[in-house]
Amino acid sequence: MRITYQYKLRPTVEQEALMQSWLDMLRAQYNWMLGERFNWWETHRSPVNACPLEQYAGIPSERPNYYSQKRSLVQLKQNRPWYKSVQSQVLQEMVKRVDLTFQQYLKGDKDGKRSGKPRFKKAGRYRTFTFPQLKNSQLIGSRLKLPKIGEMKLILHRPIPGGFSLKTGTVTRKADGWYISLLLENKDVPVSTPDVNTALSVGIDMGLKDFLVTSDGASIPIPQFFRKSEKKMAKLQRQLARQVKFSNRWRKQVARIGKLHLKISRQRRDFFSKVWDELFSQYDVVAHEKLNIKGLARTRLAKSILDAAWGQFLEMGKFKAEKAGKLTAPQNPRRTSIDCSDCGCAVPKTLSDRLHVCPNCGSQMCRDQNAARNILYRAVGNQALNISGNVLAVAGSH
Ligand SMILES: [Zn+2]
Repeated sequence: MRITYQYKLRPTVEQEALMQSWLDMLRAQYNWMLGERFNWWETHRSPVNACPLEQYAGIPSERPNYYSQKRSLVQLKQNRPWYKSVQSQVLQEMVKRVDLTFQQYLKGDKDGKRSGKPRFKKAGRYRTFTFPQLKNSQLIGSRLKLPKIGEMKLILHRPIPGGFSLKTGTVTRKADGWYISLLLENKDVPVSTPDVNTALSVGIDMGLKDFLVTSDGASIPIPQFFRKSEKKMAKLQRQLARQVKFSNRWRKQVARIGKLHLKISRQRRDFFSKVWDELFSQYDVVAHEKLNIKGLARTRLAKSILDAAWGQFLEMGKFKAEKAGKLTAPQNPRRTSIDCSDCGCAVPKTLSDRLHVCPNCGSQMCRDQNAARNILYRAVGNQALNISGNVLAVAGSH
């Protein structure tokens, strides 16, 4: 079993400067390697059906890949000796990041989801680096020894659970300081199908007005602080627009906005975490719609300001379920808002229809609950509607 814990770091001024210089160097090299990949494509591509009239007449070169770019690090350190201050493995992880970003752009991830064209990172937008091999011996009490950076204090707000060993450490610069995410592994805890009681299942759907609605008809509202923070953010942004770019006041304002972003993301995490704890305290299986980010942008744009966060919420559920021996079961979202969850007939709706009223069976309920029930039935089945459940298939694939 693998878990990730994040801790705040307390580097010295020198260590902080060193880590910042690493980020600057890694960013420069990241951009360069990304550029190398783009160039190769620009100069070697040819349409599938025809050869272009104007063809690049350069010498065909080896297509840059993870290994060739990794090999180039040796030359880099000779040409720019200051790169020797960065730990080799950290540099290699950066190459891996270039590779991953580019592969995802070309082929998509394992679900075939393609990301947009990778962007060059501007100053300040490159914020993390990773040590791929940390050892337990590097953490003594609340002091962590990082290769080439040295020993520093870490705010151990929760202890490393027994039996877990350190795998990797990802250092991140945030608006209020430096953090490290430690990936911990315990090989003795097997990843197996959790022993869940499918009678304790629930379906959830994202509400039109509420954050979510369950198949039992319960709803969880969007907390007030989201709106408050949003308003505050809008105000800070307006003030920023009035200030002279790159002036001292402008810089201070940018820092303020950065801190508020951080605060909002923490509020959100905290809220999500509480919602999951609540769900898993009552249910063993939580069925939800499978997310399709691209489709989401099209169909759900009008639904809620929290849309973008919904993916993050579901991601957290998967993680929490694993820890708690529960299950999340993603379902095909097709027609969940149209079909009647009682008789299965189609009841078309527009976005403004808040109620599901079935002319066939007379069933009447909130549209979000109707969708949540359809999602539930897809997971656990419904004999009356002749739907077989797929929760066990989902469980097996976890
Ligand atoms: Zn019906």
